[in-house]
Amino acid sequence: MDVQYNLKCINEQIQTHCEKGNISTMPNVIAVTKYVTIDRANDAYNAGIRHFGENRLEGFQQKKAILPNDAVMHFIGSLQTRKVKEVINEVDYFHALDRLKLAKEIDKRAEHKIKCFVQVNVSGESSKQGVSLSEVKAFIEELKQYENIEIVGLMTMAPLTEDEPYIKSLFQLLKTKRDEIKALNLNYAPCTELSMGMSNDYHLAAEVGASFVRIGTKLVGKEE
Ligand SMILES: *Cc1c(COP(=O)(O)O)cnc(C)c1O
Repeated sequence: MDVQYNLKCINEQIQTHCEKGNISTMPNVIAVTKYVTIDRANDAYNAGIRHFGENRLEGFQQKKAILPNDAVMHFIGSLQTRKVKEVINEVDYFHALDRLKLAKEIDKRAEHKIKCFVQVNVSGESSKQGVSLSEVKAFIEELKQYENIEIVGLMTMAPLTEDEPYIKSLFQLLKTKRDEIKALNLNYAPCTELSMGMSNDYHLAAEVGASFVRIGTKLVGKEE
Protein backbone atom coordinates (compact mmCIF):
# COMPACT_ATOMS: atom_id res chain seq x y z
CA MET A 1 0.00 0.00 0.00
CA ASP A 2 1.62 3.21 -1.22
CA VAL A 3 -0.32 6.05 0.36
CA GLN A 4 1.58 8.71 -1.54
CA TYR A 5 0.70 7.08 -4.86
CA ASN A 6 -2.94 6.64 -3.84
CA LEU A 7 -3.13 10.30 -2.87
CA LYS A 8 -1.71 11.36 -6.21
CA CYS A 9 -4.37 9.35 -8.08
CA ILE A 10 -7.13 10.66 -5.82
CA ASN A 11 -6.01 14.26 -6.30
CA GLU A 12 -5.98 13.80 -10.08
CA GLN A 13 -9.50 12.38 -9.99
CA ILE A 14 -10.67 15.19 -7.77
CA GLN A 15 -9.19 17.80 -10.05
CA THR A 16 -10.79 16.29 -13.15
CA HIS A 17 -14.19 16.17 -11.50
CA CYS A 18 -13.96 19.67 -10.04
CA GLU A 19 -13.31 20.94 -13.55
CA LYS A 20 -16.22 18.90 -14.88
CA GLY A 21 -18.52 20.38 -12.23
CA ASN A 22 -17.14 23.91 -12.61
CA ILE A 23 -15.95 23.88 -9.01
CA SER A 24 -13.09 26.27 -8.25
CA THR A 25 -12.09 25.05 -4.77
CA MET A 26 -10.91 21.47 -4.38
CA PRO A 27 -12.11 19.61 -1.27
CA ASN A 28 -9.85 18.81 1.67
CA VAL A 29 -9.06 15.11 1.84
CA ILE A 30 -9.64 13.52 5.24
CA ALA A 31 -7.72 10.26 5.62
CA VAL A 32 -10.05 7.86 7.41
CA THR A 33 -7.67 5.70 9.43
CA LYS A 34 -10.23 3.62 11.34
CA TYR A 35 -9.23 0.38 9.59
CA VAL A 36 -5.48 0.84 9.80
CA THR A 37 -2.50 0.96 12.15
CA ILE A 38 -0.63 3.92 13.53
CA ASP A 39 2.17 3.28 11.03
CA ARG A 40 -0.22 3.71 8.13
CA ALA A 41 -1.59 6.90 9.63
CA ASN A 42 1.98 8.17 9.81
CA ASP A 43 2.47 7.25 6.15
CA ALA A 44 -0.51 9.44 5.32
CA TYR A 45 0.95 12.29 7.35
CA ASN A 46 4.28 11.92 5.54
CA ALA A 47 2.46 11.96 2.21
CA GLY A 48 1.20 15.41 3.15
CA ILE A 49 -2.24 14.65 4.59
CA ARG A 50 -3.20 16.90 7.51
CA HIS A 51 -6.84 15.89 8.06
CA PHE A 52 -7.56 12.59 9.83
CA GLY A 53 -10.87 10.89 10.57
CA GLU A 54 -11.79 8.22 13.09
CA ASN A 55 -15.19 6.93 14.10
CA ARG A 56 -14.46 5.35 17.48
CA LEU A 57 -13.21 6.74 20.75
CA GLU A 58 -10.25 4.36 21.15
CA GLY A 59 -8.99 4.76 17.59
CA PHE A 60 -9.40 8.51 17.78
CA GLN A 61 -7.36 8.82 20.96
CA GLN A 62 -4.68 6.45 19.70
CA LYS A 63 -4.15 8.30 16.41
CA LYS A 64 -4.36 11.72 18.01
CA ALA A 65 -1.65 10.75 20.50
CA ILE A 66 0.91 9.84 17.86
CA LEU A 67 0.22 12.26 15.02
CA PRO A 68 2.08 15.60 15.08
CA ASN A 69 0.28 18.62 16.50
CA ASP A 70 -0.69 20.12 13.19
CA ALA A 71 -2.89 17.11 12.34
CA VAL A 72 -6.53 18.21 12.26
CA MET A 73 -8.65 15.55 13.95
CA HIS A 74 -12.16 14.75 12.71
CA PHE A 75 -14.55 12.55 14.67
CA ILE A 76 -16.72 11.13 11.90
CA GLY A 77 -18.89 8.52 13.63
CA SER A 78 -21.79 8.51 15.96
CA LEU A 79 -20.81 9.16 19.55
CA GLN A 80 -22.64 7.78 22.56
CA THR A 81 -23.65 10.55 24.94
CA ARG A 82 -21.87 8.89 27.84
CA LYS A 83 -18.57 9.01 25.91
CA VAL A 84 -18.78 12.69 24.96
CA LYS A 85 -16.85 13.94 27.96
CA GLU A 86 -13.89 11.67 27.22
CA VAL A 87 -13.20 13.03 23.77
CA ILE A 88 -15.08 16.14 22.74
CA ASN A 89 -12.42 18.67 23.74
CA GLU A 90 -9.85 16.80 21.62
CA VAL A 91 -11.95 16.98 18.47
CA ASP A 92 -11.31 19.65 15.83
CA TYR A 93 -14.45 18.76 13.84
CA PHE A 94 -17.35 16.54 14.87
CA HIS A 95 -19.24 15.22 11.81
CA ALA A 96 -22.14 13.33 13.30
CA LEU A 97 -24.44 15.65 15.21
CA ASP A 98 -27.92 14.18 14.72
CA ARG A 99 -29.89 14.56 17.94
CA LEU A 100 -30.62 17.18 20.57
CA LYS A 101 -29.61 14.96 23.45
CA LEU A 102 -26.13 14.70 21.98
CA ALA A 103 -25.97 18.46 21.36
CA LYS A 104 -26.93 19.09 24.96
CA GLU A 105 -24.20 16.79 26.25
CA ILE A 106 -21.56 18.29 23.95
CA ASP A 107 -22.55 21.77 25.08
CA LYS A 108 -22.27 20.73 28.71
CA ARG A 109 -18.85 19.06 28.41
CA ALA A 110 -17.18 21.41 25.93
CA GLU A 111 -14.55 23.82 27.22
CA HIS A 112 -14.66 25.85 24.01
CA LYS A 113 -16.84 26.05 20.91
CA ILE A 114 -16.95 22.73 19.06
CA LYS A 115 -17.16 22.80 15.27
CA CYS A 116 -19.94 20.42 14.30
CA PHE A 117 -21.51 19.10 11.12
CA VAL A 118 -25.15 18.09 11.25
CA GLN A 119 -25.39 14.58 9.81
CA VAL A 120 -28.19 14.31 7.29
CA ASN A 121 -29.85 11.14 6.02
CA VAL A 122 -30.50 12.39 2.50
CA SER A 123 -31.47 9.04 0.95
CA GLY A 124 -33.96 8.22 3.71
CA GLU A 125 -32.63 4.65 4.07
CA SER A 126 -33.65 3.31 7.45
CA SER A 127 -30.16 1.93 8.10
CA LYS A 128 -28.57 5.36 7.89
CA GLN A 129 -28.13 7.76 10.74
CA GLY A 130 -28.91 11.42 10.52
CA VAL A 131 -31.63 14.00 10.53
CA SER A 132 -33.94 13.85 7.51
CA LEU A 133 -33.59 16.66 4.96
CA SER A 134 -36.97 18.10 5.87
CA GLU A 135 -35.98 18.34 9.55
CA VAL A 136 -32.58 19.99 9.14
CA LYS A 137 -33.74 23.58 9.45
CA ALA A 138 -35.87 23.03 12.54
CA PHE A 139 -33.08 20.96 14.12
CA ILE A 140 -30.49 23.69 13.56
CA GLU A 141 -32.84 26.36 14.88
CA GLU A 142 -33.15 24.35 18.11
CA LEU A 143 -29.36 24.37 18.51
CA LYS A 144 -29.31 28.11 19.11
CA GLN A 145 -29.58 27.48 22.86
CA TYR A 146 -26.20 25.69 22.96
CA GLU A 147 -23.37 28.23 23.27
CA ASN A 148 -20.57 25.74 22.73
CA ILE A 149 -21.86 24.39 19.44
CA GLU A 150 -21.00 25.92 16.11
CA ILE A 151 -22.60 24.42 13.03
CA VAL A 152 -19.96 24.63 10.33
CA GLY A 153 -21.78 22.55 7.74
CA LEU A 154 -23.75 19.46 6.74
CA MET A 155 -22.50 15.90 6.37
CA THR A 156 -23.93 12.85 4.67
CA MET A 157 -23.13 9.24 3.72
CA ALA A 158 -24.50 8.10 0.37
CA PRO A 159 -25.91 4.60 -0.09
CA LEU A 160 -23.68 1.89 -1.55
CA THR A 161 -24.80 1.78 -5.16
CA GLU A 162 -23.27 2.01 -8.62
CA ASP A 163 -25.97 4.47 -9.66
CA GLU A 164 -23.82 7.57 -10.02
CA PRO A 165 -26.55 9.98 -11.18
CA TYR A 166 -28.56 9.01 -8.09
CA ILE A 167 -25.62 9.59 -5.74
CA LYS A 168 -24.93 12.94 -7.39
CA SER A 169 -28.56 13.94 -6.96
CA LEU A 170 -28.30 13.20 -3.22
CA PHE A 171 -25.13 15.29 -2.90
CA GLN A 172 -26.83 18.09 -4.81
CA LEU A 173 -29.79 17.99 -2.40
CA LEU A 174 -27.41 18.34 0.54
CA LYS A 175 -25.69 21.27 -1.13
CA THR A 176 -29.00 23.03 -1.73
CA LYS A 177 -29.91 22.52 1.93
CA ARG A 178 -26.48 23.85 2.98
CA ASP A 179 -27.08 26.97 0.87
CA GLU A 180 -30.51 27.42 2.43
CA ILE A 181 -29.15 27.26 5.99
CA LYS A 182 -26.18 29.47 5.15
CA ALA A 183 -28.56 32.10 3.79
CA LEU A 184 -30.25 32.32 7.20
CA ASN A 185 -27.08 34.05 8.46
CA LEU A 186 -27.28 32.48 11.90
CA ASN A 187 -24.23 33.50 13.91
CA TYR A 188 -23.95 30.08 15.59
CA ALA A 189 -24.47 28.26 12.28
CA PRO A 190 -22.42 29.73 9.42
CA CYS A 191 -22.93 26.39 7.62
CA THR A 192 -20.43 26.99 4.86
CA GLU A 193 -19.04 23.43 4.61
CA LEU A 194 -20.10 20.15 3.02
CA SER A 195 -18.67 16.83 4.25
CA MET A 196 -19.56 14.18 1.68
CA GLY A 197 -17.92 11.51 -0.46
CA MET A 198 -16.06 8.33 0.54
CA SER A 199 -13.91 5.82 -1.38
CA ASN A 200 -16.70 4.90 -3.79
CA ASP A 201 -18.08 8.32 -4.50
CA TYR A 202 -15.58 11.05 -3.57
CA HIS A 203 -15.21 12.00 -7.25
CA LEU A 204 -18.95 12.70 -7.45
CA ALA A 205 -18.85 14.71 -4.23
CA ALA A 206 -15.96 16.78 -5.62
CA GLU A 207 -17.94 17.42 -8.78
CA VAL A 208 -20.87 18.77 -6.78
CA GLY A 209 -18.67 20.93 -4.53
CA ALA A 210 -17.77 19.07 -1.32
CA SER A 211 -15.40 20.88 1.03
CA PHE A 212 -14.32 17.69 2.82
CA VAL A 213 -14.17 14.18 1.36
CA ARG A 214 -13.58 11.32 3.82
CA ILE A 215 -11.51 8.54 2.26
CA GLY A 216 -10.43 5.32 3.96
CA THR A 217 -10.04 2.21 1.81
CA LYS A 218 -8.80 3.85 -1.39
CA LEU A 219 -6.29 6.07 0.37
CA VAL A 220 -4.83 4.18 3.33
CA GLY A 221 -6.31 0.72 2.70
CA LYS A 222 -8.16 -1.62 4.97
CA GLU A 223 -6.36 -4.02 7.26
CA GLU A 224 -8.29 -6.99 8.59
C1 LIG B 1 -15.52 4.55 7.28
C2 LIG B 1 -16.05 5.87 6.93
C3 LIG B 1 -15.57 6.56 5.82
C4 LIG B 1 -14.52 6.01 4.86
O1 LIG B 1 -14.97 4.86 4.22
P1 LIG B 1 -14.22 4.23 2.95
O2 LIG B 1 -15.31 3.65 2.13
O3 LIG B 1 -13.26 3.24 3.45
O4 LIG B 1 -13.55 5.36 2.22
C5 LIG B 1 -16.09 7.82 5.58
N1 LIG B 1 -17.03 8.37 6.38
C6 LIG B 1 -17.52 7.73 7.45
C7 LIG B 1 -18.55 8.39 8.29
C8 LIG B 1 -17.05 6.46 7.77
O5 LIG B 1 -17.55 5.83 8.83
